[in-house]
Amino acid sequence: MARIIDAPLTASEGSCDPRAVHGTWGALDAAQRRGLAYTPEVAAETAPLYERVKHVIPAVEWPAYAPLISAINKMKRAKNAVILAHNYMTSEIFHCVGDFRGDSLQLAREAAETDAAIIVQAGVHFMAETSKVLAPEKTVLIPDLRAGCSLAASITGADVRLIKQRYPGVPVVTYVNTSADVKAESDVCCTSSNAAAVVEWAAREWKTDRVILLPDEYLAKNVAAQTGIHIIAWHGRCEVHERFTAEDIAELREAHPGVIVLAHPECPPEVMAAADFAGSTAALQDYVVEKQPRKVVLLTECSMSDNVAQYAPNVDFVRPCNLCPHMKRITLEGIYDALAEMKHEVTIPEDVRVRAKLAIQRMLDLPKEKPRAFATGRPPVAVELV
Ligand code: SF4
Repeated sequence: MARIIDAPLTASEGSCDPRAVHGTWGALDAAQRRGLAYTPEVAAETAPLYERVKHVIPAVEWPAYAPLISAINKMKRAKNAVILAHNYMTSEIFHCVGDFRGDSLQLAREAAETDAAIIVQAGVHFMAETSKVLAPEKTVLIPDLRAGCSLAASITGADVRLIKQRYPGVPVVTYVNTSADVKAESDVCCTSSNAAAVVEWAAREWKTDRVILLPDEYLAKNVAAQTGIHIIAWHGRCEVHERFTAEDIAELREAHPGVIVLAHPECPPEVMAAADFAGSTAALQDYVVEKQPRKVVLLTECSMSDNVAQYAPNVDFVRPCNLCPHMKRITLEGIYDALAEMKHEVTIPEDVRVRAKLAIQRMLDLPKEKPRAFATGRPPVAVELV
């Protein structure tokens, strides 16, 4: 089961450690090329940060990361910048330079509320667009323009216009993992934390028993099972989560008796049926921190386990690895360069931004609730695929 999904990042064949993909010594080289050194001052200043990541970064490797971390944190203060770090970032980014950390929904709320002048998105491109949509007066930077997403790439605004022609009057709920163009054609957005709640809300508001939920086929099927609402779906897939199978879970249970299996709702319905608990990354983290299972496996992007382990030091994490190659485009050196050179700025045509904001804002205006768990152990439910 351990594997690297599409590894255009080169290096470290067979390794599931994203630091190995980029190379710890590559980070050291990156720091040196930028004139940054591991001085006694840097060591002292970053020592508290190392405490947060010592479970995943050996002490001998810390001098490779600390100079970049120190320099990034200084630049943030000097430029009034914040870094929004998604749960799938590697730990040296997530815990050491991230100012706000969480899932897409949590980061979207932070983007809307921050007083900072500059937002650096430590996540993928659609997340940076969401920040720009919500905070147009701020400069939003993405450290690597190639940080895309298979779900976002699966659908365009033109596709949504055609779907709306085919199903007039049916509300369009769009997962945030889409471009601003797609959001602009939608009625309301959702994340995996609130997808079921938003679909139920849309059905009530539009007084209908049918809802279009785009673009993730598996999320749509899982929401259909959760809500009983007739879902019209698209054939997008997350290239990370689609690879988990029910057989993987059977193998994990055999190899690790008593392991608790947690799954993300972008996984296929068969995986959700075989898991013990399912929910967004925020829900998975809450589960681990609150329940403190003895041994757990998170069926999601593999940096997530490293990051949650900081909050649950007594939990034993089994770590089958599925890296998101897009998320792993974001590195400390990329963040450093983004802030130093003010690149790459995310822009959105104003008419698109305004329409996309309506869809996102509708979601943000819904009553705040704890990330909803998805039921597990249920048979899959069919959806109508466009
Ligand atoms: S993990 Fe999946 S949904 Fe998330 S950015 Fe990567 S490809 Fe997209």
